[in-house]
Amino acid sequence: MICLAVANQKGGVGKTTTAINVATALAATGWRVLLVDLDPQGNASTGLGVTQAQRIRTSYELLTGDCTLAEAVIPTRVPRLDIIASTADLSGAEIELVQYENRTHRLVEAFNTSPPGRWDIALIDCPPSLGMLTINAMVAAQSLLVPLQCEFFALEGLSQLLSTVERIRAKFNPGLSILGVALTMYDRRNRLTEQVADDVRACLGNVVFDTVIPRNVRLSEAPSHGLPALIYDIKCSGSEAYMNLARELMERLPQATRVAA
Ligand code: ADP
Ligand code: MG
Repeated sequence: MICLAVANQKGGVGKTTTAINVATALAATGWRVLLVDLDPQGNASTGLGVTQAQRIRTSYELLTGDCTLAEAVIPTRVPRLDIIASTADLSGAEIELVQYENRTHRLVEAFNTSPPGRWDIALIDCPPSLGMLTINAMVAAQSLLVPLQCEFFALEGLSQLLSTVERIRAKFNPGLSILGVALTMYDRRNRLTEQVADDVRACLGNVVFDTVIPRNVRLSEAPSHGLPALIYDIKCSGSEAYMNLARELMERLPQATRVAA
């Protein structure tokens, strides 16, 4: 199973929207996909229509060792897409995990107990911090998908993210790669957006995906219906962009997995 962490320690940059819609696009191409909601806000869970009542065994229980991966899996309305949900309990995990010697490896060890071959890919929706939850995701993942919002300070947070990646590589996961940076909330009518996008491409080169995700109200409406935008409105510009992003991402995957092997 390939594992991708969708990470950026800034909030509101499009991590969850990207995780949900890329997961859906991959499932639509026939892949069996597991989405792991690793954010105590539980937006990925809510956005995929998981009710509070369904969240009995969640990513929190998974990390504390109170359930297995198989027990925490919830099927979604999207064929071939399963989710491990989260609740606010997960915010306690940052502190509770400190007691475990293998605190950085709780997630990867839970993955290792899963029936081999059940999913083709796992996507982890990370919280907006570089704490223990994101570290667990980076230890479990072969690669990172980094959504970057086209705003003035976009690049500032990135250096912090990259130095965390360096630390994880040095200590725990030498094969961790950056699969790509996806520019989100792109607004063609806004000069600043274009300027930022140009700067980001100049600075990061072809690690940045060609596909940009436009600012599109349908993407923000879909979660309130408990549906990915790709199902809520498959024709909107946001859905189209996420399908293109998923296609580009799949082209990059074999290389990334080879790096990790
Ligand atoms: P994060 O997970 O990084 O905090 P989200 O994916 O939750 O970010 O996005 C933050 C907010 O912006 C949400 O309300 C979401 O619906 C909205 N949003 C995300 N991407 C877009 C987009 N491309 N166009 C319009 N709204 C978006
Ligand atoms: Mg989020």
